[in-house]
Amino acid sequence: MKNKKGIITIIILVLILIALCFVLFIFRKDTKTNDYKKLEKMNYSTEAINKIFEEKIVDKVLDNEYSKTLDEAITTDEFEITNLDLYLNIDYINKDDYINELNKLVSIGYNIEEIELIIGKIDYADIKIINNYTYINDLKEYLEYENFKIEYLERYVNYRNNNIALSFNDIIKNVNMDLDKESYSDPKTVENTNDILMLINKHNKLPDNFEPENLEKISSKCTTKELLLNSEARKSFELMCNDIKSLGMNLRAISTYRTRDYQNKLYTDYSNRNGKAEADTFSARPRFSEHETGLALDVMGGNTTYTDFHKTDEFKWVEKNAYNYGFIIRYPKEKEHITGYKYESWHLRYVGKDVAKYIYENNITFEEYYEKFLLK
Ligand SMILES: [Zn+2]
Repeated sequence: MKNKKGIITIIILVLILIALCFVLFIFRKDTKTNDYKKLEKMNYSTEAINKIFEEKIVDKVLDNEYSKTLDEAITTDEFEITNLDLYLNIDYINKDDYINELNKLVSIGYNIEEIELIIGKIDYADIKIINNYTYINDLKEYLEYENFKIEYLERYVNYRNNNIALSFNDIIKNVNMDLDKESYSDPKTVENTNDILMLINKHNKLPDNFEPENLEKISSKCTTKELLLNSEARKSFELMCNDIKSLGMNLRAISTYRTRDYQNKLYTDYSNRNGKAEADTFSARPRFSEHETGLALDVMGGNTTYTDFHKTDEFKWVEKNAYNYGFIIRYPKEKEHITGYKYESWHLRYVGKDVAKYIYENNITFEEYYEKFLLK
């Protein structure tokens, strides 16, 4: 009898156990079904949901908002479980290799915040440039600046390594102006040679076959020589010259348009006399001279030599008024590190009234103006 009771007890216990398992099974299945429905409701694709279960990340995914990036990532071979937080938080971009690029950014060392910035600020095609480079600690700083150019990234980083005291703004500005390069080492050939705003300096040269059009002879009232200047610049210069004359002063053009051959002769003579290094501080090599554009001129005032122009009343007036005629003092004081030339009070460049006004009022060089508004 005792045995029978024992057997019954065991059977009951087993039945209870089976019932318990069944309840648990139903409950679990129910939870699974609920989670599945939640994920579906969130918008995840069936394929993604199955993977989410497979990867055992259901709770984590449910704790976050729907992520299209995760939806796409998890169904590809590129899915990396360690990058789950990134996939959950980063906006989706509809590109085949997007997940791959994201993974690379992580592997280089960028965190989610940095990657968000990269994705937000850089054209998609350019993310590869970042991915081809090592981790840049200050990338965030560089990206802040409007004139940041991704193609110069490596140059910014190298330049900063050698100029650690400069602000990021100056790093970007200077590199954009090619100041990280040796003068004449890697010049660009100017393309917009019909534009009065073309930039000619030690990093930007005229095309070999360039010859300016619209050259006109300057009135004998404003020069004692036979000199040519770009038509627009010529008209403006004569206006300025007449206005200054009406105030009892005398402004004369002494050197304006130069041919390449003439510029070559000038530079060669200076080099022979002073040595190349010295000549480079005040004379341009052929094709690198603004005088070859017909937009620049050297002037003289009073009865002094042109190198003393800064001492004359004419200069005092020109300094304050030339912008009204579209001219700037092209090589100002204390800007040698930007222009590449010693201060030349006598060298004027025609850029048109609006640009001249901006340059005058902001006390900047043409290089800086060009970097800010015209650099492509
Ligand atoms: Zn000059």
